[in-house]
Amino acid sequence: MSLLEVRHLEVGYPVAGPGLFSKARVLPIVRDCSLSLEAGRTLGVVGESGCGKSTLGRAILRLIKPTGGQVLWQGQDMASLAAEELRRRRAELQIIFQDPVAALDPRMTLGRIVSRPLATFEPGLSKAQLAARAVEALRLVGLSADFAARYPHELSGGQAQRVGIARAIIGGPKLIVCDEPVSALDVSIQAQVVNLLMDLQDQLGLALVFISHNLAVVRHISHDIMVMCLGRVVEVAPRDAFYARPLHPYAQALMQAVPEPDPVREKGRVGQSLPGELPSVLTPPKGCVFASRCPLAVGRCHEERPELREFGGRQAACHLIEG
Ligand code: SF4
Repeated sequence: MSLLEVRHLEVGYPVAGPGLFSKARVLPIVRDCSLSLEAGRTLGVVGESGCGKSTLGRAILRLIKPTGGQVLWQGQDMASLAAEELRRRRAELQIIFQDPVAALDPRMTLGRIVSRPLATFEPGLSKAQLAARAVEALRLVGLSADFAARYPHELSGGQAQRVGIARAIIGGPKLIVCDEPVSALDVSIQAQVVNLLMDLQDQLGLALVFISHNLAVVRHISHDIMVMCLGRVVEVAPRDAFYARPLHPYAQALMQAVPEPDPVREKGRVGQSLPGELPSVLTPPKGCVFASRCPLAVGRCHEERPELREFGGRQAACHLIEG
């Protein structure tokens, strides 16, 4: 049985209607998203800004209430859990945020920041026990015991993200949603933090949902890749198969947009950025979500939405892909 199973998830935000007296509308952010994830595996979720990947991550953790579909955690529908059970489950489902410094309360010592979730999950622990567990969590992320007495302003970006990871693992989670966890860090530090997450995954058997727009970072850490475009999943594939040859034209365009490390080759390249503007989520296209920007689009693409179909162990949603 999968640790996490998401079935046809829908997430939307209510927004005011176009006129003064018109009804509120729902802004669809995630549409008909399904996935499953096992312990010790990483699902990389990629797509442009505004494609719904961060909203998906938060809806999995029920930090945002879905408007449809199901999130099954170890076979149990999260929506059916009573408040007490949901609180207990929260220890198993954690998140790491993009901006490590902003995510830490500047008035608290790092020891208190790290142990704070534990005080909620295990209210019977003494202060000394909380402090000891915080030191242990800091040690697991490569920070010495003396960091427990320091404050966030004393940290580098990489150290701050390590503290964020310590806070996420202190309660013994089974799944961590990593929401752009390295995009605010220097390139030299990014690899250290990603390697730390991979080491922790090995040690603790964590499942990771790794959300990023950086395809190189996602490639390093992920076992499987899921591509989102305008709230919809357009491709799901094992990592190596995906990077060898993405099937969906949107995924191919994302791959072409990755900058070349060699400036000479980068200058000679064409098609570095995705063509055209993202359509508005308020007026989503009737057909394929990529139709207005797809160089291969035919008439059918604008009228009929392609379903995700199987192609030898991977899935893609495009009318033109042949089996
Ligand atoms: S369905 Fe049509 S518009 Fe969409 S990706 Fe495929 S070819 Fe392009």
